[in-house]
Amino acid sequence: MHNFEFIRPADPAAAIAAAARAKTAQQGADVRFMGGGTTLIDLMKLNVEIPDRVLDINRLPFDKIEDTADRGLMIGATVRNSDLAYHAKVQRDYSVLSQAILQGASAQIRNMATVGGNLLQRTRCVYFRDTAMPCNKRESGSGCPAITGHNRTLAILGTSDHCIATNPSDMCVALAALDATIHIQGPKGLRTVAFGDFHLLPGNTPHRETVLEPGDLITHVTLPAPSSGSKHLYLKLRDRASYEFALASAAVVLTMASGKIARARIALGGVGTKPWRSPEAETALIGKPANDTTFRQAAEAAVRDAKPQSENRFKIELAKRCLTHALRTAAAS
Ligand SMILES: Cc1cc2nc3c(=O)[nH]c(=O)nc-3n(C[C@H](O)[C@H](O)[C@H](O)COP(=O)(O)OP(=O)(O)OC[C@H]3O[C@@H](n4cnc5c(N)ncnc54)[C@H](O)[C@@H]3O)c2cc1C
Ligand code: SF4
Repeated sequence: MHNFEFIRPADPAAAIAAAARAKTAQQGADVRFMGGGTTLIDLMKLNVEIPDRVLDINRLPFDKIEDTADRGLMIGATVRNSDLAYHAKVQRDYSVLSQAILQGASAQIRNMATVGGNLLQRTRCVYFRDTAMPCNKRESGSGCPAITGHNRTLAILGTSDHCIATNPSDMCVALAALDATIHIQGPKGLRTVAFGDFHLLPGNTPHRETVLEPGDLITHVTLPAPSSGSKHLYLKLRDRASYEFALASAAVVLTMASGKIARARIALGGVGTKPWRSPEAETALIGKPANDTTFRQAAEAAVRDAKPQSENRFKIELAKRCLTHALRTAAAS
């Protein structure tokens, strides 16, 4: 690992001012925030990330989970993934989030990982993590060997000719289904971004993964008031039962009325270049009876635009079965 300066800024303004001096935002920036370090330090050991300065943000006042005035929840960016997953209100009212977090990584990693860091975790594409290989995400314009190479675990939705990497987060799939909002404090002040607008599709700029600008610090994530009587489920399918990323996952939040589906929020993981909210599946569910025909139609709609690669065509059927089973299980709960 190369030499770098480690700094513990005293307040958010000092952290933002220091990070705003970076030439780029996040990916490739020479000044970086550090939450749990479970992504950043990993990638620094591989020389994939080579910042000159690392700002430890763990002493900033963003470690609380609090109720909001409109019966929602405000989650600080340095809240640990484990603390969020085991929070009583999260387990009761937003259980899809608790389930998703607890199916990710390992207990030790969840104890270190922060909410802000999880939002920004990087892809597990093998070429991205190997500096001997070209990779458009790591080095813009160098090429994408995954398109003709190992792509079994990579994305089938939202891909481009420049990058087909999957967003690996479980937590983010649940946040997509929960209509979360991200709160950002930057050199120009405070702003909020709807969860669906935060991550970017790769297009021809796969090195740019989010809307963050230099100096932008994620301070909180908010969740709206829970939808009364809703049924929550996160289902994750993977090569082994623990310590493994999703091949396909589904976050489902359903509200039933008179045997029909009155409200549906659906997101998929392991198949998209960003956490994949599916308005197509939601439209196919709303107003319909909760039965296998409806669930299968919603699953078909969710992957209608899928573009498989040489090794991952199986993900289309896997994602359909994953969502169908998640819907069936949630509706019956
Ligand atoms: C072996 C292993 C297995 C894993 N398995 C899974 C899995 O199954 N499912 C899953 O979802 N995840 C998995 N993960 C990933 C893990 O969830 C992430 O590494 C973790 O959530 C990142 O959080 P962190 O706080 O450690 O991030 P850090 O490493 O501290 O930061 C990550 C990025 O976010 C930036 N950053 C951090 N906080 C902020 C902020 N407040 N504002 C702006 N920028 C910020 C950093 O500069 C960095 O770019 C796994 C990780 C490992 C190592
Ligand atoms: S899929 Fe994306 S991350 Fe993987 S090699 Fe191609 S450009 Fe790099």
